[in-house]
Amino acid sequence: MGNQRTRTIRQEIMDCLKNDSMTIRDLSQAVGIMEKDVCHHLEYIEKTVRALNKRVHVAPYSCLDCGFKFRNRKKFKKPGKCPKCKEGRIAPAFFSIRP
Ligand SMILES: [Zn+2]
Repeated sequence: MGNQRTRTIRQEIMDCLKNDSMTIRDLSQAVGIMEKDVCHHLEYIEKTVRALNKRVHVAPYSCLDCGFKFRNRKKFKKPGKCPKCKEGRIAPAFFSIRP
């Protein structure tokens, strides 16, 4: 994958997030890349938008069983298990770019 394509993917992801709140899966399907690559790109995008006085807003992952919310999570990747009830059913986080 060339540098040009990488730049285009990041631009596409940023365009998606400016218009809508999306999950990692949504972005993966919209841009046509793997979910783990979406997480990787989001880390760069977060730095990029911060320089523009914007930020990546996160509606956090939450546990479907007990309602625990994964606030202040540093990574974009979906958590494996709920630390509170130890169940594995996690609702997706929604990401968007806001001023
Ligand atoms: Zn839980």
